[in-house]
Amino acid sequence: MPANTDKTKKVKVFLRTFGCQMNMRDSELICGLLQKAGFLICDDADKADVIILNTCAVRQHAEDRVWSQIGAYKSGKIIGLVGCMAQHYKDGAFSRAENLSFVVGPQDIEKIPKIISQLSAFSCQPSAKSLFEKKIWETDGLIRPEEVYHTGFYEDNKHVSVVISEGCSNFCSYCIVPYVRGPLRHRRKKDIIREIQSALDKGADSITLLGQNVNAYQDGELNFLKLLKEIDSLKGLREFDFLTSHPKDTKNELFKLINDLVKLKKALHLPVQSGSDRILKLMHRGYNRKFYLDLVSKYRKVVKGGLLSTDIIVGFPTESVEDFKETLALVKDTGFNAAFIFKYSPRSLTESFKMIDTVSKQEKEQRHKMILELQQGISGKLRKKDKR
Ligand code: SF4
Repeated sequence: MPANTDKTKKVKVFLRTFGCQMNMRDSELICGLLQKAGFLICDDADKADVIILNTCAVRQHAEDRVWSQIGAYKSGKIIGLVGCMAQHYKDGAFSRAENLSFVVGPQDIEKIPKIISQLSAFSCQPSAKSLFEKKIWETDGLIRPEEVYHTGFYEDNKHVSVVISEGCSNFCSYCIVPYVRGPLRHRRKKDIIREIQSALDKGADSITLLGQNVNAYQDGELNFLKLLKEIDSLKGLREFDFLTSHPKDTKNELFKLINDLVKLKKALHLPVQSGSDRILKLMHRGYNRKFYLDLVSKYRKVVKGGLLSTDIIVGFPTESVEDFKETLALVKDTGFNAAFIFKYSPRSLTESFKMIDTVSKQEKEQRHKMILELQQGISGKLRKKDKR
């Protein structure tokens, strides 16, 4: 069935997103592709013909929520598992959830409209006994066609997120991202600028540049710093920022740009993950505590009053009380404006999955609570100070 027939126009699609800002942006890309193909995006799962779950595989807890959500949907609908969990489970997802109709990995999202058309046509056939008879999966894609980024669909037309790079080649020992999103690939600068310019022409004035490792960006001779300068010069842009930077790829020149470029926000998200050198080494983060603290001190010196936030994992395998205390001390001494604190979650495929998860659930919860309370106190104090 061609996607833009009257029949297809009546197909309503509900999409729910789990996970990070990359996933939020991917959901916009999927909505854009579906709208372009003539489908209706709806915000009520009960009224939808098709339900898509765009998923995250970074933590077990998020996965559990997805499986139970799939089970709760009414039968008779076309249900699709998309994103990192889809890539992780591939066609094995059908045995986890019988009512799934399609599974599509992050590198294959441009195929979703065609898949839904095929499944809709199949469910209309008089001979089709059940939707469960037909299953489609696409998880072999390596790279997205550039045009998926140019449908012009954004949830918020004033502040838009623009992907500058996909995937990651760092292989931190706990992280599933390189396995489900593939190696680091960079979009061409001209394509990034084309997307941004088009959003600005339609009324956007604020941009967030996205990538798993944004500051490793490279397009030929053009590196991340040069890209920032070009974006800063765009007419119609009021402000912009970027997510997420890796400490090992963070150059001192970046701090100067954060300070000097007029439109670039005076803020940096720099995940530290642990304050213990032993744990950082086991995590394969590529830096130690001193290196990280030196970066912070240079940032503070150059970007006066700049905001600083981080990510922390507690309870990594073998993390001792001493290791944890080092993280606690780092948080206390650094004074982050915000910190996102996570309990270690073993992920199959990753290197740390082979390690014994030595820290008990209870201990992880306690460590999580301790850092959270410490950070809440620090954030509160800094907010009050800023208001004065
Ligand atoms: S830098 Fe490490 S934690 Fe971040 S996405 Fe890459 S592998 Fe995962």
